[in-house]
Amino acid sequence: MTDEAWIGLTGTPGTGKTTIAHLLNECSVYSVSELANQRGCLGEVDPHDMSREIDIVSLNNSLEKQGINHQAKGSASSCETVIIEGHLSHLLPVSAIVILRCEPDMLQERLNLRNWTGKKIRENTEWELMGGPWIELVDHKNKDLPIIEINGSDNSPEEIVQIIGKWLKQGLPLTPFAEIDWMEKMVDN
Ligand code: ADP
Ligand code: MG
Repeated sequence: MTDEAWIGLTGTPGTGKTTIAHLLNECSVYSVSELANQRGCLGEVDPHDMSREIDIVSLNNSLEKQGINHQAKGSASSCETVIIEGHLSHLLPVSAIVILRCEPDMLQERLNLRNWTGKKIRENTEWELMGGPWIELVDHKNKDLPIIEINGSDNSPEEIVQIIGKWLKQGLPLTPFAEIDWMEKMVDN
C-alpha cells in the first residue's frame, strides 16, 4: 500500500458525482461500478432497469486486501489523491468523504431526464429528502472520518471542484456534520 488518500465522492444518484469526478483531473478517479466490475463484485441484472447490484461487502474486502492497481488504468503513479465516485463510495475503505447534496425538486428534474421508472425516481428523491448517504453513515465506522457536505444545487460544478480542492489542500479539516436538511427547509417555506 502507498500513503495515497482515497476520497469517497458520494451522494444520491443525480447529485453530480460523475460530473464533478470528471473535473477533478489532478486526481486518479475510479467509479465504484468500474471497480466492482473489475473485481467480480457485481450481482445479477435487475430486469426492471437492467442495472446490476453492487456487492459492497466483497468490494470493500477486495479493496482492503488488494488496494488499487493504477497501472491497469494507466493513471499517473505520482497522484496521491484517489477519488472513488459512486453512491456507495462512503461505505468503502476510504480516508475521507465528500457528500454531494441536491435540493429534491431539482434532483427530480435531473432524474426525470434519465430513462428510469417513476418509482425509481421517487425512491431516490425521497432518499435525498431524508438525508441521502448520512442515513447509512449513522451506524457505520466511516462516520468518524473527515466528511464535507456540499450543496450541488446552488454551486456550479466548477465551484464544487474548488471547494473540494481547497478542502484537500487544507488537509481535510473537520466540517459541520449534516448541515443540509431539506425537510426543515420545506417546513420553513
Ligand atoms: P450522478 O453521477 O451523481 O448520478 P451526474 O454527474 O450524472 O450525477 O449529474 C446529473 C445531472 O446533473 C447531469 O445532467 C449534470 O449535468 C447535472 N449537474 C451535476 N452537477 C451539477 C451542478 N453543480 N449544477 C448544475 N447541474 C449539475
Ligand atoms: Mg454517476
